[in-house]
Amino acid sequence: KNTPVTVLGLGAMGQALAATLLRGGHPTTVWNRTPGKDTELIAAGAVGAATAAEAVEADGPVIVVLFDHASVHAILDPLAGKLSGRQVINLTSTAPEQARELAAWAAGHGIDYLDGGIMAVPSMIGQPGASILYSGSRAVYDKHRETLELLAAAEYFGDDAGLASTYDFALLAGMYAMFGGFMHGAAMMRSVGVSAGAFADRAASWVTAMAQMLPAYGRIIDGGDYTSPIQSLDFHKAALDAITRATRDAGVAVDFVAPIKNLIDRQVADGHGSMEFARTIEELV
Ligand code: NDP
Repeated sequence: KNTPVTVLGLGAMGQALAATLLRGGHPTTVWNRTPGKDTELIAAGAVGAATAAEAVEADGPVIVVLFDHASVHAILDPLAGKLSGRQVINLTSTAPEQARELAAWAAGHGIDYLDGGIMAVPSMIGQPGASILYSGSRAVYDKHRETLELLAAAEYFGDDAGLASTYDFALLAGMYAMFGGFMHGAAMMRSVGVSAGAFADRAASWVTAMAQMLPAYGRIIDGGDYTSPIQSLDFHKAALDAITRATRDAGVAVDFVAPIKNLIDRQVADGHGSMEFARTIEELV
């Protein structure tokens, strides 16, 4: 018999998670602050609870997928007594310190806490390509592994509840840089009459090709020797100077390239121009 699950929060993500649990045959109890978001889920077999307190009366783990750290406390604090001895899986995006704080809060109330970072948009839940990163209670992860795998490929990093979130946000930082770079490129292409859609395919294959560089950078950074560059900071300074000029000439704001240019310029000014570009990490830590 499939484990019953409660889902607190029926935003876009909570609805996708609950729908996937239902499709997987899990008795699913759902609750949302604003009523009416459970209609389709109830039609699909979910039990709709009128209050969060009622929702956690159901057996099984409680999956929390709310807006932010504050909303998680707003909903869970009054339920602390009821949740004692229970298992909470918090998939709300929270910063690592907030996840650790929630884990400590949970421990203080005898709640077994697993934190998760969702690496997917709602439409990807239950589909190949989605993953959820977990850390915190191994007992919760091990017990519900199969259920979690239904939602997305699951990976557990350790008992520090902040770890999953650190991975999550580190990956998102790279994602935002990539998306920002695409916006920048698309703005430049617009200046010569090329649509963003036409540019997108080309940009996607370029970014994919460049991603192949990451393992080499990883090896250099871990080795800590920047003296035999794949490409030097001087080389990249020349490139960024040219890109900045082309950007201005195209009438496009330099906001997006300015930070990486600044990091490179600073290292060159400090005498590191002949060093490998990956040395840039040392400016950040
Ligand atoms: P939505 O904005 O669609 O939904 C937010 C949910 O939080 C709603 O259920 C809302 O309830 C609830 N909420 C907000 N504030 C409170 C509060 N004070 N008390 C109770 N409930 C509250 O967001 P998503 O569902 O998309 O995202 C949920 C979480 O999942 C976020 O942490 C997000 O970062 C994370 N996530 C989302 C992804 C995505 O692509 N959507 C990707 C990866 C992670 P109400 O309906 O009453 O407003």
